[in-house]
This record gives sequence, C-alpha cells and structure tokens, in this order.
Amino acid sequence: MILFNVYPLFDIEITKGIGCRIYDNQGNEYLDFYGGHAVISIGHSHPYFVQKLTHQVKTLVFYSNSVINKLQIELAEKLGEISGYQDYALLLVNSGAEANENALKLASFQNGRRKVIAFHKSFHGRTSAAVRVTDNPKIVAPINEGFDVEFMTMNDIESVRQSIQNNDVCAVIIEGIQGVGGIRVPDAGFLKALSAECKITNTILILDEVQSGYGRSGKFFAHQHAEIRPDLITIAKGMGNGYPIGGVLISPLFEASHGLLGTTFGGSHLACTAAITVLDIIKAEHLMENTQKVGNYIIQELKKIPQIKAVRGLGLMIGIEFEQPVKEIRNRLLFEMKIFTGVSGTNIIRLLPPLCLSKSDVDLFLDMFKEIIQSS
Ligand code: PLP
Repeated sequence: MILFNVYPLFDIEITKGIGCRIYDNQGNEYLDFYGGHAVISIGHSHPYFVQKLTHQVKTLVFYSNSVINKLQIELAEKLGEISGYQDYALLLVNSGAEANENALKLASFQNGRRKVIAFHKSFHGRTSAAVRVTDNPKIVAPINEGFDVEFMTMNDIESVRQSIQNNDVCAVIIEGIQGVGGIRVPDAGFLKALSAECKITNTILILDEVQSGYGRSGKFFAHQHAEIRPDLITIAKGMGNGYPIGGVLISPLFEASHGLLGTTFGGSHLACTAAITVLDIIKAEHLMENTQKVGNYIIQELKKIPQIKAVRGLGLMIGIEFEQPVKEIRNRLLFEMKIFTGVSGTNIIRLLPPLCLSKSDVDLFLDMFKEIIQSS
C-alpha cells in the first residue's frame, strides 16, 4: 500500500524536537517558526509533558465515554479558569474539523435553521463550512449539503446585518484570527457589532479558535481582544501540543441531553492528560505573557524591514506579506538557514512558533530573514 498523496512534502524527515528546535535524520538542527501548523504550544518534548504522558500511557490510555473520567472534569475546570469561561460547558472531540462540525450541529439543534455565514478566506477544516483552500480546482473541500453556507466579507457589518435580519440564519462562524487565509485579524468593532446582531436575531455566533486560541494571540482566545463572548468556541491544535484533541466551549444557553452529540475517542485519558499538562505549563511558565512580549517584539522589528508589504497578526500568529511570491524566500529559509516557516497563498509567510519562543531566537531569525530578503 502507498500513502494517499494529498500533501506536498519537503524531502526532510524530522525525528526529534526540543523546545523551539527540531532535528532531522541527518542530524541537522532547525529553528521551528511553524510549530507544525500552530500545534506546538509549549515547545517540543517539554520534560513535564513527557513525564505526565509517559505515566499516563503506563496507567491507562483510553476507556470509553460510558464511565466517569475525572481527567475530563479536571481539564474542563482548568480550561474554564484560564480562559475566563467557567460558566461554559466543554465537549471533547479529536480535531478542529470535528469541533466545528459539532458546533454547527449544536447551533442548528438550537434554532432549527440551516443557513450558515462564513467569511471569504476563512478556513474551518474539512467541514460543512469549508471553502476551497487552494487554487487547484481538483482540491475542493467538501460542502456538506446539510448546511447552506454563504461567504461574506469580513469587517463588512452592513452586509452581514442584511443577511441575518430575516431571522433565518443558523450560525455565523468566524476565526479569532484568520490563519490559512493569510493572518487577518477581524476588527474589534466588527466583532462587537456581529455579536450584538447575532443576539438580536437568535443567530448562534461560533468563534473558531482552533488556530488562534490557546494563548497564541497573547490572550487565551483571540476574540478576547474584542471583549465579546460568543455562544460556541471551538479549539484544537495547541490544546494537546501534538497529541490530537479538540473541544467545543458551550454557553449556558445550550442544554445537554444524552445522545445529543458524541464520539468514541473524544476526551480519552491520554488526550486529557496532554491537554491538562499543556494548561499547567502555559500557566506555570507564563506563556501568554511571553507570547505577548515576544510577539510584539518580532512584529515591531518586522515592520522596520522595507521590503515587506505588510505585517499582520497578534502575539505569535504573524503573517508577513510581500509584493512578490514568497516560495524562494521560504525555501531558502528552510534549506539554507534551517528555519521552518509556513505560507499562506503565494505572497504571505506565516509564523506560528511555539509560545515559549525566546527573544534571542527571534533575533537569530531576524538576522537570517533579513539576509535572505536582501539577497533574494
Ligand atoms: N479551523 C481552523 C481555524 C484551522 O486553522 C484548522 C486547521 O488548520 C481547522 C479548523 C481544522 O482543524 P483540523 O485540521 O484539526 O481538523
């Protein structure tokens, strides 16, 4: 059997990671400014994470959601405390797409509607609210026929208002910060107005914090910069620092009932241990404060580079836009300088490093980045 070939791959085999560094099978060391799509929050192979997961593997990896799992309760309590959403309930799943699917289902159970508003350049995983994510016409993410999705322009509140005024839209789904679409931060005023409009029309507001959550923006959730409280918040990526786990934070507006939602693997003992340990480390090592400080520094320094068209983002979720395609810059960063970064579209470099990134690693990155830009 061969692998179903859906991912363009670099000819590099990563075999080890420590903190913000990863190593290939040839012994090369790389600076990780991508964190495997924003997944690595506390750094690779954090010793406390390794210790806790090793112990859990030896004790119990999984039993089904038919018995009490105190780790789920501990995770919900700690997540409520660190995020400020103590009064919300937690549904545990396995990925970002699954979290969004469940959020959309919950929304439609609540108001019985089928129309969903998402935004141009958004990405919500391979879900009902999926958009085409590349220019390759063969690569079309599936649109679930159960929902009728309308794509609108982010920050254009008038159009959204017109669209939802008939009280027939089930949900609006929006990323805390658009990730795959090029690191675009919604205006705080737009989010506030959107939240208000949704309340008036009984439309469920879903904040997809799969990429922008878990401290990446410098606050626990990116939407907290706009001081709104959505009805549903979806999480995954940084939650398990590489161990697959996702979740939906559900406002007290929603009533649970047995059989309403569910999944076999969601909230396994090992997944919960990973997620609890991540939260403990974020708190103990002040990683949100670090993200804010180091993020502000790198954004401020990038803005001084004249060849860059725009720098966008918050904390350690940063997009660097150029006038020209960035393929060569990214490849040279990777193969000459040994730095992993991401891209969005053709002209944007994406930085999503672990939240434990140090200022000295930022300086290393900036030196090499400037050298590449000046000689490209
Ligand atoms: N939502 C956002 C904002 C994402 O960036 C992603 C993945 O990139 C997803 C959802 C889907 O998450 P997963 O790949 O875990 O299904």
